[in-house]
Amino acid sequence: MSVFSDIEKFYKAYKGNKKIIGKSILGRPIYAMQSGKGCPLGIVQGAIHAREWITSYLILEQIRLGVDCGSAWFIPLANPDGALLSTCGIQTVKGEWRRRLLLNANDCSDDFSLWKANANAVDLNVNFDACWGTGTCNVKFPASANYVGVAPFSEPESRALRDFTLEVCPQYTISYHTMGEEIYWQFCQPFFRCMRDKKYACTLSHLTGYPLKSAEGSVGGYKDWCIQTLKIPAFTIEVGNGTHPLGKKDLEDILNKNVCTVREFSACWRRG
Ligand SMILES: [Zn+2]
Repeated sequence: MSVFSDIEKFYKAYKGNKKIIGKSILGRPIYAMQSGKGCPLGIVQGAIHAREWITSYLILEQIRLGVDCGSAWFIPLANPDGALLSTCGIQTVKGEWRRRLLLNANDCSDDFSLWKANANAVDLNVNFDACWGTGTCNVKFPASANYVGVAPFSEPESRALRDFTLEVCPQYTISYHTMGEEIYWQFCQPFFRCMRDKKYACTLSHLTGYPLKSAEGSVGGYKDWCIQTLKIPAFTIEVGNGTHPLGKKDLEDILNKNVCTVREFSACWRRG
């Protein structure tokens, strides 16, 4: 079983509202499932970075737990090709020229366990149109991490997230990453939105026990785009501790600290 087949099996058995929001470079579906009804409506996504696939399993457990005050759309695996490449290797990729591209981007190593990008060697979390290409760690060539792509939204996975988010019009978004046990919530908001967003960030900090952090020079992410374009509160929650890639052995600790977060955050939002 792979992380992709686990998500696919869960999606097929899921009885609630659900949708395929787009397809990856290699044609794999990107699944979304809704839990709960009414406001606030959030979007929660995970594993946009390939090696952070453990966040997919966190999101599956959050869907199982459900949301009862308000609702949320959950996208457990935003980068299916990358997660399969990271967990099962280059044999999950069809086509000789693409395999060569990915091996070259991975410094000719067939160990993809630390891979972050998609099957075009683009880092999806720097491919969004939010000060695109100006980040301090950005690179302009195919790589296992930090390649911004040829243009904002050049990748089908980032376009799928963008289009679905515009369709849903969420009131907040949460992006799950590993690792470091910290929360990012800023992207040059004007003062009044900064105050509003910090209040919700503090709620998330209280729920998880994770401190709030700021990331200087980090741009082009899904959270950044949500803050800049949709003008809504958006958060990156970095779960887990240790060394990349985190795996199933780390899941129990991650679940203990995070499984109730979306359910409780939604209830806190309703209380105002
Ligand atoms: Zn990440």
